Amino acid sequence: MSKSLKILFLSAEVAPFAKTGGLGDIGGSLPKALRAMGHDVRVMMPAYQNIESGYPGVEPIPVRLDVPTNFGDVPAGVFQGHLPGSDVPIYFIAEWHLFNRPQLYGYWDDPYRFAFFSRAALELAVALDWRPDVVHAHDWHTAPAITWLATAGQSHPFLNNIPTVFTIHNLAHQGKVSWDVFDYLGIQTHSLYEEAYGEVNFMARGIYHATMINTVSPTYAREIMTPDGGAGLDGLLRHRQYHLHGILNGLDYDVWNPATDSRLAVNYDVDAVSEGSPDGRLANRRILQEKANLPQRDDIPIVAMISRLDWQKGLDITGHVIHQLMNGFAGEAQFILLGTGEARYEQMFAHLAAYHRGKMAAFLDYNAGFAPTIYAGSDIFLMPSLFEPCGLGQMIAMRYGSVPVVRATGGLADTVQDGITGYTFTEYSAAAFGQALQRAIYFYNTDKDAWRMIQKRGMMADFSWKRSAQGYQQLYEWAMASVA
Ligand code: ADP
Repeated sequence: MSKSLKILFLSAEVAPFAKTGGLGDIGGSLPKALRAMGHDVRVMMPAYQNIESGYPGVEPIPVRLDVPTNFGDVPAGVFQGHLPGSDVPIYFIAEWHLFNRPQLYGYWDDPYRFAFFSRAALELAVALDWRPDVVHAHDWHTAPAITWLATAGQSHPFLNNIPTVFTIHNLAHQGKVSWDVFDYLGIQTHSLYEEAYGEVNFMARGIYHATMINTVSPTYAREIMTPDGGAGLDGLLRHRQYHLHGILNGLDYDVWNPATDSRLAVNYDVDAVSEGSPDGRLANRRILQEKANLPQRDDIPIVAMISRLDWQKGLDITGHVIHQLMNGFAGEAQFILLGTGEARYEQMFAHLAAYHRGKMAAFLDYNAGFAPTIYAGSDIFLMPSLFEPCGLGQMIAMRYGSVPVVRATGGLADTVQDGITGYTFTEYSAAAFGQALQRAIYFYNTDKDAWRMIQKRGMMADFSWKRSAQGYQQLYEWAMASVA
């Protein structure tokens, strides 16, 4: 094994303590995988309201931070706990006014809240007398730590010359704020081409100052270097292309495993899809049909979708395809949606469900307890995303034996192989999507053996964090080697 590294992991979200999306999942699982490889990982995040008001296993520790700002030193406290099921320490930076609020985000002073957090986290490393070998920051919220280390921090006796890794989970949120934030942090630097006059763009800063940068899939890493995918930062990303990498996210196998998932009525493993074995998926299929109030037929495909109802997810090309599907363009089929989000898409699915009664069901809510039954009981899982940095839904579907039909973009292109583990299409159109779905259903109906092979390969594919963590370990080593 390579040398044990001291890794400071900074994130605005760490599941289960705080999560609004994939960022939280990664914050909760990647550090555990790195720890299992022998690294000394320490996670830091803000003490949000649920921590301040008492979280089981999380206690205040006797450390008082004096965080330097241009208003003088601001005191902050620290709570400590562990990532569940591990010995990975997690520290929560407590500043009552900034973090003890009902929501994680959505406040006018968000850039200041996270600038403060980022600076305080580095101060905590000093207070713990723990100098990290590498600082790993995620998305714009913690990019200020990278900028500070690369500028003001260079003259700090303890924190100078620490290599940094910046992971982009969502380029759409960039953290733009007035230049005053640099005065607040004691940073003197020049403006970037990507920053409007008097503005700081923390996402751009993370990209500009980090020793190494990565996104959550290799294809997304390439896409964001193009004007179409770059959200205004493609030039900067091209400028840093030699330091930009793509590492696929993993699935938390403690959570997503059909053999142990306690949310399923019947557990099963890959043997369930072998010819002649009792189909362990059948029981889940029947439960799914019952819950969806659909006829319990075993002979037609169940097509499913679980998604945030957001324009990113390809819903503009989905409505027409579902209408065709329900009208029998590929033979008889059932369709089940679980999703919530923008009203226009909720209305679209509600209309379709009312029109195609008895053939489809639309559950317009968020239901983490029900989702596994859909993955386990459906035959085909749709993800026609316009863009997708990594995507977890397709990986979960494959692991549960539901065959994905996806648009070959971002992480979808990296995880689903056409005709091998699923079906893909490229052009962002209902026609291309419909054709791919027709192809899938054709195989489902006509070649059961080939279909079972596709299911089997998906179920056996390695989407573990172990694999991803090896990628991150390498990135840390490269970052260290390039500042040494
Ligand atoms: P994103 O992070 O962009 O929403 P991902 O595919 O990476 O997309 O992750 C989506 C995750 O959220 C999956 O685990 C999926 O099962 C879950 N999910 C999405 N919508 C719902 C819902 N309405 N109910 C339950 N789980 C959902």
